[in-house]
Amino acid sequence: MDFRLNDDQLEFQRYCRRFAREVIRPVAAEHDREQSVPWEVIRQAREWGLHGAPQLERLGSDPEGIMGVIYGEELHWGCAGIALAIAGSGLAAAGIAASGTPEQVGRWAMECYGEGDEIKLGAYAVTEAQAGSDVKSLRTTAKLDGDEWVLDGTKVFITNGGIADVTVVVANVAPELGHRGQASFVVPKDTPGMSQGKKEDKIGIRASHTAEVVFEDCRIPVDYLLGGMDKLERKLERARNGQHAGSSNALATFEITRPLVGASALGIAQAAYEWTLEHLEQRSDADGPLLEQQRIQQTLADVATEIEAARLLVWRAAWMGRNGVPMTGGQGSMSKLKGGDVAMWATTTLMDLVGEEAQSTDCPLEKFFRDAKIYQLFEGTAQVQRLVISRMQRREYQERLKAASEQLAAASA
Ligand SMILES: Cc1cc2nc3c(=O)[nH]c(=O)nc-3n(C[C@H](O)[C@H](O)[C@H](O)COP(=O)(O)OP(=O)(O)OC[C@H]3O[C@@H](n4cnc5c(N)ncnc54)[C@H](O)[C@@H]3O)c2cc1C
Repeated sequence: MDFRLNDDQLEFQRYCRRFAREVIRPVAAEHDREQSVPWEVIRQAREWGLHGAPQLERLGSDPEGIMGVIYGEELHWGCAGIALAIAGSGLAAAGIAASGTPEQVGRWAMECYGEGDEIKLGAYAVTEAQAGSDVKSLRTTAKLDGDEWVLDGTKVFITNGGIADVTVVVANVAPELGHRGQASFVVPKDTPGMSQGKKEDKIGIRASHTAEVVFEDCRIPVDYLLGGMDKLERKLERARNGQHAGSSNALATFEITRPLVGASALGIAQAAYEWTLEHLEQRSDADGPLLEQQRIQQTLADVATEIEAARLLVWRAAWMGRNGVPMTGGQGSMSKLKGGDVAMWATTTLMDLVGEEAQSTDCPLEKFFRDAKIYQLFEGTAQVQRLVISRMQRREYQERLKAASEQLAAASA
């Protein structure tokens, strides 16, 4: 077992940090203040090979699965909102990859990014007003009418909602079957019947656009159903016969992306930690009483240790995901839970350490603190992650007990 990053990974880490420092940081405050989409930074990310095809190729050819989480952490170190504006289309692309036929993946995945000089965005629309954690309660419907699907409903809090070139929508085709009656659809920009609703005014990740997406008699061709009709009919048939379902498309998509979300949260924690280290070095009371100095050192040690522990969980889950090792103990969820909790705890703890200056909006910690909160909310809230982990751990423990008693029985036979 070797925990060190190899030369390629180290070089990529330094490259991403340089992009974050030289391109993202200088405009972060402005986009945070204006709550504006950082198109010029997304364009530069493309030029640096950090957006679209080159980045997808890098991820696809990475045997360790670590390049994606290095990228997530380092870009979020620059600014979480801008990083999400650059990388947020990945959720739609992952939704297409998880549910689409090879032809659909070929046709739609790159439409979430654009090619050459063209910048495009993707959105993945699941959440509704009464259905966030509880995805089986979705109300948006998709009804077949001749050779068209007709979508009706309202999605809320959608990243890139209304400005995306491709929106992947999860809707009910058979509401009586709960999440087993859901399917995913691709809706291209400017499709009549799809519109942007309220744009959210957020406390954090403000450079990332979040809005409602409204579907009213929104008609799309029948082959915009991801996976195709035959697959859907087989799935509905199995559900009606009470056969084992497996996980829903939406849940499978979120599972793939969880370590990346944990890594993103860590970028904020790491940025807050590094800023505090530098700030305390420069403070006039840096050589204060010994006990005070030790209190500061102990707090910084706790923050550094928590960040490192979370990073190991993130790297392990990313590696497991890439190498097809089943996360039966909830390792993907653990990595996201720990990353989000550490980001929120670390930014709060560091503000306490810095003292009253940290209350000023001039202090960078206030932005890190605002940006951190969402990582305990989206892609599965911290409470829901705990439920998932607890259930998976229990199941794994029961299977271990069963295997041990079978071994014992075989040995004594
Ligand atoms: C900035 C932002 C961007 C987003 N981007 C997207 C996107 O691109 N696409 C998308 O589909 N969605 C997106 N979301 C939605 C996000 O995923 C949901 O907000 C999240 O899933 C939580 O759902 P909810 O808000 O409905 O809260 P609810 O599920 O209503 O939960 C409310 C509270 O109750 C708690 N809770 C719920 N169930 C339980 C339980 N069983 N036990 C204990 N506690 C529980 C939750 O933890 C939470 O604290 C985004 C949200 C935000 C804020």
